[in-house]
Amino acid sequence: MSSFTHELRDRLSRLRPRISAGFENLSGLKPAGVDTSSIRKPGFCCLGVVDTCVLKCRMCNKWKSDLYVRDQRKPTLEQWKRVISQLRDLTDEDFEIDFGGGEALMLPGLLELVRHAADLGFTTTIASNGWLIDDELARRIAASGLSKMILSVDSLDPKIHDTFRGVEGTHKRVLAAIDHLHRHRRDDDFIIGICSIIMEPTLPGILDLYNWVKTDPRLRHILFMAVMQPNNSEERFDKAWYDRDECHDLWPRDQARLDAIFNKLKEFRREGFLISNTLPQLEAQRQYFREPESFVKTSTCNMDTALHVSAVGDVFCCFKWDILGNITEEGTDVRELWYSAAAEKARTSIRNCEDNCHFLLNCYFEAGYPFEVKKNDQPLREPTPGNGYLRTTSPTGSSCCDRGAPTNSSTTMSG
Ligand code: SF4
Ligand code: SF4
Repeated sequence: MSSFTHELRDRLSRLRPRISAGFENLSGLKPAGVDTSSIRKPGFCCLGVVDTCVLKCRMCNKWKSDLYVRDQRKPTLEQWKRVISQLRDLTDEDFEIDFGGGEALMLPGLLELVRHAADLGFTTTIASNGWLIDDELARRIAASGLSKMILSVDSLDPKIHDTFRGVEGTHKRVLAAIDHLHRHRRDDDFIIGICSIIMEPTLPGILDLYNWVKTDPRLRHILFMAVMQPNNSEERFDKAWYDRDECHDLWPRDQARLDAIFNKLKEFRREGFLISNTLPQLEAQRQYFREPESFVKTSTCNMDTALHVSAVGDVFCCFKWDILGNITEEGTDVRELWYSAAAEKARTSIRNCEDNCHFLLNCYFEAGYPFEVKKNDQPLREPTPGNGYLRTTSPTGSSCCDRGAPTNSSTTMSG
């Protein structure tokens, strides 16, 4: 067992009395008149700590002013910490908190939040484009107790990566970030993973990315995301967004080539866990590229167990449904919100949601959802924080990537 695992176990045993005390008190936070017995614990949490970015990606408009958010509230570090502490009472011991953006590292004090979460025994993930990670920041990240850093690399070709990330030199900076993080890592329990967006310009190099991660001992995983309608663009779930002039070159159209690549990815995934997507998720992405308009859920949406907090402090399960509260308001307690009548109403809406929403393709993807899969496509043993693998069920951002939640919510999340 590594020293980090020892350290984590020690921390947990020191904290356990605090955690148990919280659980005992939780019954007092459940409102009278609401049947809480069927309410599941959160299965996913993304704190979208900032809603802006240093890059200017073609496939994400997080760097532009949000079209719908007029609220300028910014939670303080103390308010973020309070949420994290309250979450401890709502969640299982190995629960993962994803810190998302925009570019999450733009939040001054982010690593203080990571330290706070790590001290409470959470697994912690930051998704980043790598731009800000110089040697000094890498040292501080490694010292913060962070469990996983997921960096965006869409292509091994710097020209392709930089063109679509909108800022020259991004590729060089993210590769340098890997060097810095590796130099300062505590031990192998600190995971550096890669997240890559499958789109027309990156498609030819997708298998090269896989081979790079396979042969580079510094890297543990690669997660593939399907390109989606850019965040913060005009109409959410705009039909045929990929045919718009500004998006046309993002969308892969050669079905035979897509099939060949997805078949390979699925083959590699069957061999092990280097690819952190599940097999059904890869199949769902392939189907999405084939027929984006007929991507329809065949089961209820699992976002009813997600807990998001946006950069302005709004708390919600899914961006489309009711806001449960705001953490900048005096007395807000996410434990109470989770068990509130408003949350139950939102969960009912989520379970009945008929949006042809692609959000779940990349984030918080539950195995088997949304397509039936052939027997030999059944997921292998799923990665868990405990065995050092990335959970693939993460939003937008969150989170395994630095792309935020879908576009145009008045509570735009980010990751
Ligand atoms: S995809 Fe990531 S790096 Fe690019 S603008 Fe969006 S949040 Fe920033
Ligand atoms: S909008 Fe998407 S993520 Fe939200 S409830 Fe509907 S299907 Fe689920």
